[in-house]
Amino acid sequence: MIQAISRQKTRRIQVRGLGLGGDEPIRVQSMTSTHTTDVNATMAQIRRLEEVGCELIRLSIPDQASVEAFAEIRSQTETPLIADIHFDYRLALAAMQVGADKIRINPGNIGGKDRALVVANEAALSGVPVRVGVNSGSVEQDILEKHGGPTADALVESAVRQIEFLSSIPGLQLVLSLKASDVWTAIQAYRGISKECDYPLHLGITEAGITLTGAVRSAVGIGTLLADGIGDTLRVSLTGDVVDEVKVAWEILRCLGLRQRGVTLISCPTCARTEVDLIPIAEKIDAELQNIVEPIKVAVMGCAVNGPGEAREADVGVACGKQEGLIFRKGEVVRKVPEGRIVEELLKEVHTFLKSK
Ligand code: SF4
Repeated sequence: MIQAISRQKTRRIQVRGLGLGGDEPIRVQSMTSTHTTDVNATMAQIRRLEEVGCELIRLSIPDQASVEAFAEIRSQTETPLIADIHFDYRLALAAMQVGADKIRINPGNIGGKDRALVVANEAALSGVPVRVGVNSGSVEQDILEKHGGPTADALVESAVRQIEFLSSIPGLQLVLSLKASDVWTAIQAYRGISKECDYPLHLGITEAGITLTGAVRSAVGIGTLLADGIGDTLRVSLTGDVVDEVKVAWEILRCLGLRQRGVTLISCPTCARTEVDLIPIAEKIDAELQNIVEPIKVAVMGCAVNGPGEAREADVGVACGKQEGLIFRKGEVVRKVPEGRIVEELLKEVHTFLKSK
């Protein structure tokens, strides 16, 4: 049973054709890991991200050649693109000129307050939102000394300092992130900043690790905040395939009932009662259903203990027995099939179910 989450009210901003914050759905984003100057490789990655439901895509812009490549990439997709800028404020200005839909800066490393203000003023005039990304490595020295390190309170104080000098710019659309690799620090920092302002919050656990550990840390950190009603967009950071970042993000949102997209797969862990080779069956079904966008619940269960119950509750399911499986659709038994046909028959029922919707 999914508990309805009451989201904290934030300001709504516009990123190209996409609303973010306010009553908008929580947006899923990721970041390309290619060299932006390699337009073909970057576009190929953008297409893979789009296919799995990535709604905003960030690209690193480390130099002028990347700005030129960004202009070319901008012309090849309608997905909102975010330019990620560090150190050189002129790159932020150039990225906006070639169509960046949002920019991400860290005012602490953009060359001083004056240059951050130049960027923010131009962003406000161009209607381009700015994400101010505070993280453990960007907290100002005096704040670090006051708090004894990059604590959650230090991150919040640093973010508040940034907001104070940027919020005076008329029309500037701000988004904030306060990322830390330590899950508790990030949770406390986001909880803290959400009491201080109503700017939309971009959630993330930074440098979360390789796919398995990164997914777990992100699910715990981001999931806790979302359950608190905090957060308007999220990026799961993984040392791995960027497509997995988006899949994990959608899984977090699905688990909390905040958004629905694609397949929710229920499958049992197998045990001594299992009399089919269930793991490859579940893996094949999962792989075959990756491109489905419509929300659907599919159950793949190993035996009669919990199998029929879960399979009945799902939109389509299979409860296995001795080298066979009982296929269910919308709570009704459709037929019994031998083990070798379970994948094929279950997929057939999934497509029948989707057509009937
Ligand atoms: S559903 Fe059956 S096979 Fe699967 S874990 Fe439970 S008892 Fe074991």
